Amino acid sequence: MAEKVIMPQLGLTMKEGKLVHWIKKVGDEVKKDEPIAEIESDKATFELEAPVGGTLIKIVAQEGSIVPITDTIAYIGEPGEELQDNIIKESVEIESSKIEQKNIDKEDTDCDVLVIGGGPGGYVAAIHASQLGAKTKLIEKDKLGGTCLNRGCIPTKALLHTTEIIKKFKNAESYGIKNVEFKVDYAVIQKRKNDVVKQLRNGVQYLLKKNNVEVIKGVASFKDKNTVLVKENDTERTITSEKVIIATGSEAVKINIPGGNNSIITSNEALELEEIPAEIVIVGGGAIGVEFATIFSNMGSKVSLVEMLPQLLPGMDSEIALILENELKQNGIDIYTNAKLTEIKEGKPQNIAVVNQQNKNIEIKTEKILLAVGRKPYLAGLNLGKANVNYDNKGIKVDEQLKTNVDNIYAIGDVIGGILLAHLASAQGIKAVENALGKNSYQNTDIVPACIYTNPEVAGVGLTEEEAKKQGLNYKVSKFPLKSSGKALAIGNNSGLVKILSDKKYGEILGVHIIAPRATDLIAEACLAMRMEGTVEEIATTIHAHPTLAECVAEAAHIACGTPIHAG
Ligand code: FAD
Repeated sequence: MAEKVIMPQLGLTMKEGKLVHWIKKVGDEVKKDEPIAEIESDKATFELEAPVGGTLIKIVAQEGSIVPITDTIAYIGEPGEELQDNIIKESVEIESSKIEQKNIDKEDTDCDVLVIGGGPGGYVAAIHASQLGAKTKLIEKDKLGGTCLNRGCIPTKALLHTTEIIKKFKNAESYGIKNVEFKVDYAVIQKRKNDVVKQLRNGVQYLLKKNNVEVIKGVASFKDKNTVLVKENDTERTITSEKVIIATGSEAVKINIPGGNNSIITSNEALELEEIPAEIVIVGGGAIGVEFATIFSNMGSKVSLVEMLPQLLPGMDSEIALILENELKQNGIDIYTNAKLTEIKEGKPQNIAVVNQQNKNIEIKTEKILLAVGRKPYLAGLNLGKANVNYDNKGIKVDEQLKTNVDNIYAIGDVIGGILLAHLASAQGIKAVENALGKNSYQNTDIVPACIYTNPEVAGVGLTEEEAKKQGLNYKVSKFPLKSSGKALAIGNNSGLVKILSDKKYGEILGVHIIAPRATDLIAEACLAMRMEGTVEEIATTIHAHPTLAECVAEAAHIACGTPIHAG
């Protein structure tokens, strides 16, 4: 009668072992105590010796499978002996169920949470996962901080801050400061921007280390739903994880324009220019387009901004977008809405951008053409098919919990499409991790402020007036112009508006839209109020410090309550 070979228990804590390799194969003669297989526990690798002498007549546990202690892994019997039917049936079942367990068993994996991508979505998710007690690893193919820190939010804001200072210098006389002479040294401006980025990148590295997140350099691609291959130059490494969070971000959309594309750049190259271009045509009047228009026009470039739709900042409140358009025009930027770049005539020394606006061709001389026409999810090399993750050209498909169609894989940030903003990616990172680790997350990802760091700044949250109208809501609009604000006047920056949309009956705040200096900071009050389902009365009856720009929000709320104080 055939003798069972079982997974042994070597040590008190061992609950299961991995069958790494069969030294003997079926049909081989084995002596008692002769090594027949290589087994791995959570602590060590060892050779399993045959409990009896005979012939290895059946292997039950395949190489790579995880087997609980005392489960059968093989049979040794007489040469030519056949296993009884009931034993064959039992052993086949054991074999398949153990292999399946390899993918889902927590004890089997290298980590509990594996994050792919070290941008504001990925690194925040990894830190939070570790804080919640999960063994966490993060794979990044390039630089920690992702698009936001290295090629997006931070470098643009460093440059925009410089332009604010330039603007102040230009207006110095109006503040009584005479004979101000200044020269823009673009090399120093670039160095400062790079230093800011570097310092923050080191900060992210420090935070990950402090929170015990192991950072692995390389390109990640799925082998199956729990296994990811990491390639870095010629080295490869396989990592298994119970849960995986995909946070691979997005990349700039590039379109081919007839006539030549040598002068075309994206935001990536625009941030690295060594010299300020004499002229630049920016295609796309969204957040990225208007921010670069502000940067280059203040640095001295002649800027032309081309937008296909009737308004700049598509999706933002159109009244606010129109005020920004006028501000940019006053700053010397040529704006073409309802217009399209149709051709580039490349030439030396200058190129000509042909812009079609309402069936009329306009030729614009330009050194560079910056495409800011949108971004698309970055999925290159991920091998999502190996893990059966559903996606389309808008991004990876997720449910409300940010879970993909595969039960252990989540996706967050730009790679899932929708609103592409760093703070949303981070909030989704927290939510996905909490859901993945079995908590029902309270993280709010519905109220998302949109901020544009032009001069003045623009910020909005909640419904725009166009959306409230379209939804047929019974809403009220209240507006407070900055020209009535003491603080705005004192700082010499009083063009702008705070606009609140509120429910006519209950006063609940539906949306807040601001164009003002530091609008991007002012919007936080509106976000909190909306998060708490607050009313205009609650904002109006909150004491705001004087003199501050924040008072403008309170003043707009007073107007909504029918009790205007400083509004004319
Ligand atoms: P990312 O930041 O793109 O990070 C993804 C990371 O994944 C990258 O580091 C990438 O190298 C890595 N990766 C990709 N594939 C793999 C792989 N297979 N293996 C390993 N690693 C991989 N948003 C704002 O909120 N405010 C702003 O002011 C703002 N300004 C912007 C200005 C510009 C010019 C641009 C381009 C964007 C701006 N954004 C801004 C948008 C913001 O940068 C993104 O929304 C944000 O970075 C998305 O974060 P993420 O973590 O989803 O992806």
